[in-house]
Amino acid sequence: MGCGPGSREAGGQVLEIIEPAETPTGPIGSTDWMEEASCAGHSDLFFAPFAERPEARVRREAAARIICQGCAGVAACQEYARSNRELGFWGGESESERAEAGFPPTTPIIGRKRVAEQRARDAMASAS
Ligand code: SF4
Repeated sequence: MGCGPGSREAGGQVLEIIEPAETPTGPIGSTDWMEEASCAGHSDLFFAPFAERPEARVRREAAARIICQGCAGVAACQEYARSNRELGFWGGESESERAEAGFPPTTPIIGRKRVAEQRARDAMASAS
């Protein structure tokens, strides 16, 4: 099976890319669940630092996953992150897991941490 316009190959697999229904002008979906976010104050675990080594990423994402498992908003958070093609770890799901599910981030790699942090701040601000 080859890659078509709605797919891409990664890690030996052809991934179906689910395109957004329209070009978003702001966050898609409710952010009410952020009021009960268990990750508040732990953004260092949810967004990769510059030049993070793979081993450190595994440890960081494992710690983030544990926090998500105890969060009441996990399902809504995952849906929000998928809809908005977020960077970082959201709703118990890493960027690569979201991409494998068909929701890859749309932000260029350069400046991703800064963009991710700003988007998280914007989302938190719009939730309060
Ligand atoms: S599911 Fe995880 S990333 Fe989402 S709000 Fe809860 S703790 Fe934060």
